[in-house]
Amino acid sequence: MSTEKKKLDSAPTPAPPSLPAPLTDLKIKYTKIFINNEWHDSVSGKKFPVFNPATGEKICEVEEGDKEDVDKAVKAARKAFELGSPWRTMDASERGRLLNKLADLIERDRLLLATMESIDGGKLFANSYIMDLGGCLNSLRYCAGWADKIQGRTIPMDGNYFTFTRREPIGVCGQIIPWNFPLVMFIWKIAPALSCGNTVVIKPAEQTPLTALHMGSLIKEAGFPPGVVNIVPGYGPTAGAAIANHMDIDKVAFTGSTEVGKKIKEAAGKSNLKRVTLELGGKSPNIIFADADLDSAVEFAHIGLFYHQGQCCVAGSRIFVEEPIYEEFVRRSVARAKKNILGNPLTPGVQQGPQIDKEQYDRILSLIESGKKEGAKLECGGGPWGDKGFYIQPTVFSDVSDDMRIAKEEIFGPVQQIMKFKSIDEVIKRANNTQYGLAAAVFTKDLDKALTFAAALQAGMVWVNCYSAMSAQCPFGGFKMSGNGRELGEHGVHEYTEVKTVTIKIPQKNS
Ligand code: NAP
Ligand code: MG
Repeated sequence: MSTEKKKLDSAPTPAPPSLPAPLTDLKIKYTKIFINNEWHDSVSGKKFPVFNPATGEKICEVEEGDKEDVDKAVKAARKAFELGSPWRTMDASERGRLLNKLADLIERDRLLLATMESIDGGKLFANSYIMDLGGCLNSLRYCAGWADKIQGRTIPMDGNYFTFTRREPIGVCGQIIPWNFPLVMFIWKIAPALSCGNTVVIKPAEQTPLTALHMGSLIKEAGFPPGVVNIVPGYGPTAGAAIANHMDIDKVAFTGSTEVGKKIKEAAGKSNLKRVTLELGGKSPNIIFADADLDSAVEFAHIGLFYHQGQCCVAGSRIFVEEPIYEEFVRRSVARAKKNILGNPLTPGVQQGPQIDKEQYDRILSLIESGKKEGAKLECGGGPWGDKGFYIQPTVFSDVSDDMRIAKEEIFGPVQQIMKFKSIDEVIKRANNTQYGLAAAVFTKDLDKALTFAAALQAGMVWVNCYSAMSAQCPFGGFKMSGNGRELGEHGVHEYTEVKTVTIKIPQKNS
């Protein structure tokens, strides 16, 4: 092999950052509502508790935002968006520089943020530090790069006119995010919005407000003008609903359940028809053909479901395996699931942490019971684990049929369903027979099969011989009831712009 070829083979993958130990003396400094770059008490005087799901212990209390606090935040965001404001008159390149500065500050505080995310969200520390924080930095810097590259066009309109388009910021954006990837979702929301020049009122999930509030301090430190980002912790039916129904919010972006997604769209329709983008649930099919590399398929199917205790919208929770390899696939998947080490997410070597809260824990256990009752074969797990915190044993069901609840509903827990299929036509129909359409995967060495499925599967992301492969450059979002619009990539950035057509009468056009 020539040296040239060797160089290419060993080229680009950057080494992951080495993993430090989590902080042992984490102090929670920010627990208030962030408006106009200042910290506010709630108008009602109420606070709410924040818990560590690994122990059930209270971490701290946070100011509970409600409609009045959302109103204050929207006023600040509206003022920051006024014509002639520091934010509106800023060079686009300067917006990009501020976003990059924010990324630098996140890098500085990476250990603190990763520790906080683990304690607040029950997330394995290694995943927080490497995957979540790494993903945040990539998405933020990606969006920073877009700031001065968002362009309109000149258009050869009929008649004596000069026509051009502008891609303008939409205005005040309300953003509502879930608890499974608190910081990643925070960045996925604010970064494209700010890159395009919008202002933001964001509500973190009630279970996980802490890293979002720390971000408030970094946003101020980075030098964003007051009112550009406002952070209102609080509950969905109160603070969240106030955002969705607000008459002076121009767009709402939501990630969470399909059930609440419907309410958001309804609220937009009943109020001011604000723009709506939704990233909702899934019941994503993962199709394994007999010609696939079995070791690799078992591992991807395992990670694709069990990552973060199964609390991922893209979880591959309907695994269809071709008949000749079905028994072997189940055997290996069960052996793999049984190897998982459960424990405190801050402890090195632990591979599965707790579910986020009692409500999710109870819901997952009841879905497991329904699987047993409806006749699926419980291969392993099937119950709670440990004596404190919300832990559930890694659970695998085989002989699952499409009409069972565990094959239809989003479980959002460490519960794997394995089904059998015989033919291509059959599995395409079954894979698409769901209200959801977020992600899908196919494992095969046959290029024709792979491309057939790439076209046939109704999903926003289709993976071939891999799972959960995501990156800031690639659009992410759902077909059908998994959502509206896209996040990330050029498409995701454009979701934060309005297109304006400007037409100027001229004496004479020359081509
Ligand atoms: P959720 O209720 O949809 O919560 C997502 C966000 O929406 C939270 O900030 C929530 O506030 C807020 N919210 C709730 N009701 C609202 C309303 N009426 N108006 C405006 N905002 C509202 O999700 P969940 O209850 O945490 O989890 C339930 C299920 O949703 C899970 O089992 C899973 O199936 C799915 N889920 C999906 C994702 C995803 O990534 N697509 C993420 C999380 C959950 P609170 O803080 O008060 O909840
Ligand atoms: Mg909720």
